[in-house]
Amino acid sequence: MKGLMQDHPLLISSIFEHAINNYPTQEIVSNSVEGGIHKYTYEDWGNRTKQLANALKDYGVLEGDRIGTLAWNGYRHLELYYATSSSGLICHTMNPRLHHDQIAYIVNHAEDKIIFVDLNIVDLIKLAAPSFKSVKAIVVMTDSKNMIDLELSNGIEVLCYENFIDKKPIEFDWPNLDERTASSLCYTSGTTGNPKGVLYTHRSTVLHAYGINLKDAIPYGAKDVVMPVVPMFHVNAWGTPYAAAMCGTKFVFPGAKLDGESLTDLMNQEKVTISLGVPTVWLLLLNHLRDSGKKLDTVQRLIIGGSACPRTLFEGFGEEYNVDVIHAWGMTEMSPIGTANMPLYNTTVKNKEEYYDQKIPQGRTVFGHQMKLIDDEGNIMPNDGKTQGRLLSRGYWVLKSYYNDDTQKDRFFDGGWFDTGDIATIDKNGFMTVTDRNKDIIKSGGEWISSIDLENICVGHPSVANAAAIAIPDEKWDERPMIVVQLLPGKEVSKDEILNFYSGKIAKWMIPDRVEFVDNIPLGATGKILKTKLRDMFIN
Ligand code: AMP
Repeated sequence: MKGLMQDHPLLISSIFEHAINNYPTQEIVSNSVEGGIHKYTYEDWGNRTKQLANALKDYGVLEGDRIGTLAWNGYRHLELYYATSSSGLICHTMNPRLHHDQIAYIVNHAEDKIIFVDLNIVDLIKLAAPSFKSVKAIVVMTDSKNMIDLELSNGIEVLCYENFIDKKPIEFDWPNLDERTASSLCYTSGTTGNPKGVLYTHRSTVLHAYGINLKDAIPYGAKDVVMPVVPMFHVNAWGTPYAAAMCGTKFVFPGAKLDGESLTDLMNQEKVTISLGVPTVWLLLLNHLRDSGKKLDTVQRLIIGGSACPRTLFEGFGEEYNVDVIHAWGMTEMSPIGTANMPLYNTTVKNKEEYYDQKIPQGRTVFGHQMKLIDDEGNIMPNDGKTQGRLLSRGYWVLKSYYNDDTQKDRFFDGGWFDTGDIATIDKNGFMTVTDRNKDIIKSGGEWISSIDLENICVGHPSVANAAAIAIPDEKWDERPMIVVQLLPGKEVSKDEILNFYSGKIAKWMIPDRVEFVDNIPLGATGKILKTKLRDMFIN
């Protein structure tokens, strides 16, 4: 027998309408790309988003068309998020830190019709545009005063954002879409092969936003002020634009200025209570706070994910700045939230040491997402907190295949399980710890050494800015660990001192065999360490 409850589709337009109707006076603040702080309300955002939806419709794009964005976190990007998806178009965010050949590949693979681009990213478009096959127009996200002179080949029209939406009506009837309609598209740049597209649906996006707002995940509230430092081109800024809008949270967008000083000043000026980003950004911020003597006046929570968060960040922010750092884990393929580290009813800590110990795992799963461990033969591994295995994931907001790409079929298992490519342990209370990426784990004499553990210990040294552990081939042991170290400016440390720093912290046989210093650890476009580059530098 069927139940008798209403059956409204889960649509991004419902989040939008809820937000603008219930919190019209709430603020959205952006550090604008043109310079200066831009402020407006949810009501203004609502009107302009509907103008943009009208402009897109008038331009002639059709339901299902992909609309590209190459933009930092800012109010126009938020308008694009909602105007596209709500009207049945697909918001295709792209990472401006990629090489222009990669951008051209992604644009052509997605068959974008229009690309919206921030002023200071236009040079990338100039380089990539000659290879575009489907693009009809580039819209530069600025006003006529700041508009640049740009001519492109291939018959691609160049438009100015403010002129594009000017005088369009502030009313728009959102279509009543099927909730499984595609809403946005994000390519993940693996270290091998071409980037792969993850095509989210309205349903997955709304459920993910609900999941984020569970109390033991990353909930927002109307009194929160959120600064997503994680870019809107990286997995929809971890779902923040949806989850926070659902709750009427004030947005503070940092634009292109992600250095410690700019972030600290904006956080204090706008009374930010919660912020999200990768460890690299927070290490820079922590160093800035220490050097400048500034404080974070209002920040209560920092959500850190994207790579393993070193203990120094939990302790540094917790002890020196009274900020609670929360570890979270996820992937582009899962919208991205999989786990968040929040204490359980039976979590007890006797002292500070134990308090920070229990913050290190990537955390417990959020309802709507499930995970399990298997070995290479597919046997299920025990959740005993010790046995490592390949981490599989499934759930309401996990992909079922990549977009027009079947090269990864072997990562999808029966029952909807997806092989994340991470190696992890799960304890009996469900706390998951990522020990490595499958391809980064160091296999020494049949035993596994976690490169994450080696890196976390090393960055705990007071003179170390960043560290990366990689495997070096070894005749006897197959592989042995090597640690590549970037020191803080002006610091000098010997190789022996680095090695001695490991003693007593891990088993002797896990201590790296080799230490190398570099001026800069190479980072990829989303702030993750580029181990392939390090392997090229030191091994190949
Ligand atoms: P991306 O799709 O670019 O967000 O990358 C996802 C991958 O980042 C995951 O499969 C993990 O390998 C890694 N990752 C994300 N969050 C964490 C975390 N908290 N700790 C360790 N690795 C993480």
